Amino acid sequence: MLLRRGQRDQFLKNCPTLASCNTVERDKGDFAPAQASAWLCRKWNISSLSAMGLDDRDAAAGAAATAVKYLEETQFSKASHITCVTPILPRENLILDQNTQVNLELIDQSATSLFWVLNRCRTPMGKRMLREWITSPLQDIEAIEARQEMIERLTGDPHLRARLGEQLSGCRDMGKSLSRLTLNMGSPADMLVIKETLSLAPDLQALIAGEPAFAQLIPACDTAALAALLQAAVADTVPRFLRDGGVIKGGFDAALDSWRGKAENSSSRLSAFEEEERTKSGIKNLKAGFNKVFGYYIEIPKGSAGRAPLNYIRKQTLVNAERFITDELKAFEREMFSAESEMLAIEERIYESLVGEVLAQAAAIQRTANFIAELDTLLSLAATAAEQGYCRPRMDMSKDFVVKNARHPVVEVTLGKNPFTPNDFNFSAENGRRIALITGPNMAGKSTYLRMAALIAVMAHMGSFIPAESARIGLIDRVFTRIGARDELARGQSTFMVEMVETANILRHATDRSLIILDEVGRGTSTYDGLSIAWSVVEFLQGQEHARPRVFFATHYHELTQLADLLPGIVNLSMGVEEGEHGVIFLHKIVEAPSDRSYGIEVARLAGVPAAVLRRSEELLAKFEERGAEKNEEVKHSQQNQLTLFDV
Ligand code: ATP
Repeated sequence: MLLRRGQRDQFLKNCPTLASCNTVERDKGDFAPAQASAWLCRKWNISSLSAMGLDDRDAAAGAAATAVKYLEETQFSKASHITCVTPILPRENLILDQNTQVNLELIDQSATSLFWVLNRCRTPMGKRMLREWITSPLQDIEAIEARQEMIERLTGDPHLRARLGEQLSGCRDMGKSLSRLTLNMGSPADMLVIKETLSLAPDLQALIAGEPAFAQLIPACDTAALAALLQAAVADTVPRFLRDGGVIKGGFDAALDSWRGKAENSSSRLSAFEEEERTKSGIKNLKAGFNKVFGYYIEIPKGSAGRAPLNYIRKQTLVNAERFITDELKAFEREMFSAESEMLAIEERIYESLVGEVLAQAAAIQRTANFIAELDTLLSLAATAAEQGYCRPRMDMSKDFVVKNARHPVVEVTLGKNPFTPNDFNFSAENGRRIALITGPNMAGKSTYLRMAALIAVMAHMGSFIPAESARIGLIDRVFTRIGARDELARGQSTFMVEMVETANILRHATDRSLIILDEVGRGTSTYDGLSIAWSVVEFLQGQEHARPRVFFATHYHELTQLADLLPGIVNLSMGVEEGEHGVIFLHKIVEAPSDRSYGIEVARLAGVPAAVLRRSEELLAKFEERGAEKNEEVKHSQQNQLTLFDV
């Protein structure tokens, strides 16, 4: 991460989750928007950055120029493959801060991440783009619907999916190869990648040509001539290094072919020479050979070496043989060496001109690479949607969040044969609900329900289909999450401190369009401290005049459920359980009612906690509940009298 000199500590204080990133400090002047945008304009030969959606006075211009300069310095090149910047704007993208990305396990390597479920990409370019789409979903209905249209078309046509998949399987990482060639770090293998991938682009385009849904996707650039040139010039298999020869295809250059012909004849000419020398000298076991250290030689076994003709010049003595050269063999050697160096020189020249062609058309190649990546990502989302039975969500400008029979995309896959129990979300203008308090026993599925809401929101804003029967979702600008117990001891932050820092961030930054997931707030401190904080947080989120976010709040504080009777917009949900003969059975079904208790002791029993501890816990619980009921009455009373419990 590039930071202004002297701002590291302050920055990390505000963004503690980024402490593990490597940071490089740069001079303040590097970030100055006016100079930075002038530098970028000169570099790209444009008059203003406005076509890229950046104002020349925008701080983002400073950040972009600093990043490009840093790249040029560290790669010792002009980074000419970077030809524009695309700002990620809050109004265009749904914001998912680092914390939320980690909490929701969006793109980590594990088999429990959203990426893991959605990824059916066939190319590294597609995988990179899918990660980008997951962490930067859209916030523009038109753009979301454009992706939905394409996915819908692909979902409904398995035959088209199969044919596109076949073509995409042959595409390789053209974007990365182009970067390496641009940065002067490329190899013949990169040229081969561009040749192979570029040649597949027309077939991919032909498969979707004429489909209105894909009209915007096909790049308006023509790389056919370059593709044909590379097809004709670059061999089908290439060595690791240019100096090893064989990068350029036979038939492309007459001079190269002629030198190659000479070099390729070397072994037959050497055999003919050997035969001739045997006849002339009468030495039957004479051999002609070559090695890299001594070049060409004639070898005669020790017993016959005395009969070597006079024109033979001794060059090397071995244990059993003597090696000689002759003037004729020296001339042959010179001819062969010059064939080799001529061949390499010609190959180098041709290769350099091919690199020049590639760089001259870098922007078109990049656009083609993006097209392939995008198609691969859409195909991946469509394949998952078809296999998992996802639906197309309806996106609108309301503040609703209505999802019928929703499933958690990751849990439903990991459960395998055990079916996932679908649940509904129902916040709408009609029912006036926008805050759900979810109570219920441990292990009943509260966290799963909460995360499912967030993941469905992310998927819907990516343009993806979602695991549900139907859905109507009003645009969301940001998903906030406060989940789980975590400490940052290395930076002096306790578990509770982290919990409060995250809560503070949410309360300060949530807007009318935000979706907030709170999985326990206030658990890290004493019961009444925690309850008081949790209560006030719900009041604050409910009462804000300017920001009325949608909130899912899971809690073990049953006292909070009273808020649904006291304040509008709040609904009590709980996870259903049945108390059977052999203990509790989790139904994993959401019901519209508060839960009466936590069943923590039953879960402790299931976990194997000793019976003596369980008995004592039951005794104590009865006492605590008795006393707690009295306190609750006090809190409820103060709320009913419109007293502000906490001065926020
Ligand atoms: P705690 O309060 O202890 O954190 P919880 O109520 O948050 O528990 P979860 O962690 O969400 O419970 O879920 C517990 C288990 O139940 C998980 O292993 C999950 O796989 C399973 N589960 C959750 N929801 C469902 C569902 N709808 N259908 C099937 N299984 C589910």
